Amino acid sequence: MNNGTMDATKIFGSNVFNDKTMKERLPKETYQALRETIERGAPMILEVANVVANAMKDWAIEKGATHYTHWFQPLTGKTAEKHDSFISPTPEGSVIMEFSGKQLIKGEPDASSFPSGGLRATFEARGYTAWDCTSPAFLKEDAAGNLTLTIPTAFCSYTGEALDKKTPLLRSMEAVSKHALRVLKALGDKTSRRVFPTMGPEQEYFLIDKKYYDQRLDLITSGRTLFGAPAPKGQELEDQYFGAIKDRISKFMKDLDTELWKMGVSAKTKHNEVAPAQFEMAPVFTSVNIATDHNQLVMESMQKVALRHDLVCLLHEKPYAGVNGSGKHNNWSLMTDDGTNLLDPGHTPHDNEQFLLFLSALIMAVDKHADKLRAGAANPGNDLRLGANEAPPAIISIFLGEELTEILMNLAKGKKAQSRGESCLNIGVDTLPELPKDNTDRNRTSPFAFTGNKFEFRMVPSSASISGPNVVLNTIVAEALDEVAARLEKAKDINKEAAAIVKDVAGKHSRVIFNGNNYAEGWVAEAKRRGLPNIKSTVEALGYMANESAVKLFTKYKVLTKEELHSRYEIYLEQYAKHINIEALAAMDMVRRLYIPSVIMYTAELAETVSKLKAVSASASVQKNLLTRISELLESASKKLDVLDAVLKKAQSVHEALHRAEAYRDKVFPAMGELRKDIDALETLAPARLWPVPSYAEMLFKL
Ligand code: ADP
Ligand code: MG
Repeated sequence: MNNGTMDATKIFGSNVFNDKTMKERLPKETYQALRETIERGAPMILEVANVVANAMKDWAIEKGATHYTHWFQPLTGKTAEKHDSFISPTPEGSVIMEFSGKQLIKGEPDASSFPSGGLRATFEARGYTAWDCTSPAFLKEDAAGNLTLTIPTAFCSYTGEALDKKTPLLRSMEAVSKHALRVLKALGDKTSRRVFPTMGPEQEYFLIDKKYYDQRLDLITSGRTLFGAPAPKGQELEDQYFGAIKDRISKFMKDLDTELWKMGVSAKTKHNEVAPAQFEMAPVFTSVNIATDHNQLVMESMQKVALRHDLVCLLHEKPYAGVNGSGKHNNWSLMTDDGTNLLDPGHTPHDNEQFLLFLSALIMAVDKHADKLRAGAANPGNDLRLGANEAPPAIISIFLGEELTEILMNLAKGKKAQSRGESCLNIGVDTLPELPKDNTDRNRTSPFAFTGNKFEFRMVPSSASISGPNVVLNTIVAEALDEVAARLEKAKDINKEAAAIVKDVAGKHSRVIFNGNNYAEGWVAEAKRRGLPNIKSTVEALGYMANESAVKLFTKYKVLTKEELHSRYEIYLEQYAKHINIEALAAMDMVRRLYIPSVIMYTAELAETVSKLKAVSASASVQKNLLTRISELLESASKKLDVLDAVLKKAQSVHEALHRAEAYRDKVFPAMGELRKDIDALETLAPARLWPVPSYAEMLFKL
């Protein structure tokens, strides 16, 4: 392709078996039957699947594909795929290309090595993958141009338990749709047939020159630097955010856009982020299921495309100490199948009544279940971010803006909101004052902000699947809407009841609303006074997804069973422990085999210089002082290394999952931090030529 002549309209979706392609290639009845399944969840009939499979195969083969894969999302948080070719040998010794409806609908990967948390014994290893026709199949292309027909699937055990991230997401979408529809019907809606959560995840990431990355065992094994003295310059000049994009990065971004567009991912916005070497990409929002699949493709493509440019993409939440980390802004709303955004305030009293009810449901949900939301955004990387004065703090609160807050507070007190005209009153509130169009100058410190027509959950970790936080969000909102619907359905006077609901929520749940600066010191104490949870670590947070309250909620809405919740709890605790274990091993390896030998080499040089200077009776005080200081640090580092070694061995020997994770959090992790202090101090004293790994300045600024 000629540089600069890329036609985005031709490229976009060219590798997707999308609606247009389906319409062209499927018989009318098949197409309509499939749409019924996609849009309304009608059961999939095998005859329909057979026709679709054949059309999909022909399309893929015409494009050059020879293989297909059931693509799924195990609890590792990554995606998994096993490729099968379409070939089927004939008695004459040749092959034909085959792909049946059965093969499309169901796959049986030998997936015994994926975490199942005891849901499935390894002797009955096989889970199965089931086609998710609501997320379109596509062709994944590698750098050599090989194409694979990639079919989004859910991954379950034979007894039907979810072993993946997609299954509960689909279930939670059902739940929220069901109860949102009840509310809409109660308010007189006659046309909506489905409501789905919409999602636009903004993805932050770092890039690093591959030649530096390759020299850092910590980055290779853990995705973050475990050592490194700060560079003379950080992000204090604020010259990186939205700065001009360098040519090398721009080339990478263009390549990335092209890859994503081909697969139908609507990459829209790209810019430099706050920290040096940090960037962001945001797609146009879509249904949360597709957005979750797409976000996996985004993360995968970022890493793949970076390598083509001799770069490495770091998705870790905190690759570098002392500069901002990365997250995902999870932009979430609810939309009806006819395209109404239910969190859009609207212009008529009826619209406003509906808006205020949905807004109230959100507030109630977040206040009641802040602990679960926090847990949904927990991972080891995020422990380094949340509450560390950059990302949102670990306390969940909602930013609504002064205007909306005032309206709600007035309603709570039984006062009328300020009237703007003489339109009829539905729920004691006149047409809402027009919300400021530019709601972008908003509180960037809030973890859960209303941004005009959607909520932005900013706590989501950059490297993780967005499924978890959205499963929580969908389910807690389903519960709140269930409560709202039940009240409306029983009410004699809908408008009165709607007003009462909004009033009750404003009265009971306004403690979760906070429009101030979430980084301010006073907020932690204020939140405590309000009784808002402040859950600081992943290990602590995970418990809130498996306790009685979680079991009650997720089983009631048929999103996760008790067994599924508990297996997830065990898996995530284990993953946490493994994660820190890897970091500790990498840290010790680097100290033993890189840092200590380099420092010893330098002390030998210094000692030799001192003795040579002494031989000619010259003063060697500078050299001697330096030698003393470095030797002290070396000795201290060596002792701390032994401590780390000891606490690590102890943590490894703890059997029970929670206690093991706690040992890693409370003993191993701090011991790593202590060791780092000495090594970083040594880095500032040792000559650059002897330092065995690239510095922060090189990694962050030589791009
Ligand atoms: P920001 O200032 O945070 O970058 P943008 O207006 O650029 O805000 O939007 C960020 C993301 O929010 C985009 O991915 C966008 O598609 C998404 N978004 C916009 N409207 C909605 C909605 N109704 N539901 C979900 N996501 C949305
Ligand atoms: Mg944003």
